[in-house]
Amino acid sequence: MNNNSLLSHRSEEPENGILYMVGTPIGNLNDISQRALNILQNVSLVACEDTRQTKKIMSKFNISNKLISFNQHNSSIKIPKIVKGLKEGKSIAIVSDAGMPGICDPGEDITKRVKSEGIDIICIPGACAAITAILSSGMSSSSFVFEGFLPKKKIDREKILLEISKNEKTTIIYESPKRLKKLLNELLEFCGEDREIMVARELTKKFEEHVGNNINKVIEFFTDKDIIGEITIVIKGIRKRDFNPNKSIIKKDLNDLINAGLSLSAASKYLAKKNGLKKSEVYNLI
Ligand code: SAM
Repeated sequence: MNNNSLLSHRSEEPENGILYMVGTPIGNLNDISQRALNILQNVSLVACEDTRQTKKIMSKFNISNKLISFNQHNSSIKIPKIVKGLKEGKSIAIVSDAGMPGICDPGEDITKRVKSEGIDIICIPGACAAITAILSSGMSSSSFVFEGFLPKKKIDREKILLEISKNEKTTIIYESPKRLKKLLNELLEFCGEDREIMVARELTKKFEEHVGNNINKVIEFFTDKDIIGEITIVIKGIRKRDFNPNKSIIKKDLNDLINAGLSLSAASKYLAKKNGLKKSEVYNLI
């Protein structure tokens, strides 16, 4: 089977020479499909983010197979070996510690490389925290933006926060519990206190919790709490007519651009375009 062939009918799985991207649970071990278990048991080998984690799932379902480690630290060595194995006709499964491999987890690089070699990839779908969270939020889910983890670098982070503040679509973000309070305060600063969000904690697990309301209320809810567990944040899109750009941020950007050497006129023109405002509205901020 090559890149251009139609994958209309699969014979018995797993097939030789195919890379399988296998979804595993994000908490509740029962969230794994029969098809995924069949692949994990019968491929030539399973490349895992952490072999100990995958062993736990396999032993729960009484299956075993050859496991190798495949993660961000060893992927440059492992990818050529996996590609070689596939070309020799082996069937290989990629699994991450939880959810879909390649979604903020190891797996993206190998799919690019494998595809470029003309080898087929079959995805065995499973749980994904982003999809589980958006459907639990009741927010619009037919079209949405998935940001994964926001960048750490301030300038890149602020650019995305600004985009979120103007976005008409639902946005989904992954965040660690340690950094949740900081992120909530940034969302408050960029999106304003009325923006509706939902913090989904420990999805599919015993202590699953959905904290949803406007940003202020959500911040209040977490204020005196030690936050633990896994967190996904869902942010409701704005209605276009409700967009009210945060003038203090634009004013700060204006000062930054002027300090960097731009004229007031050029800086105002640039920021007006970026924020959907009239040039005079930006110009008059100073
Ligand atoms: N590949 C995974 C997927 O398909 O969702 C995501 C892996 S990423 C390294 C881990 C992040 O996903 C966590 O920090 C958290 O933001 C989110 N996450 C994973 N499991 C979760 C859960 N049970 N509840 C809430 N968020 C979860």
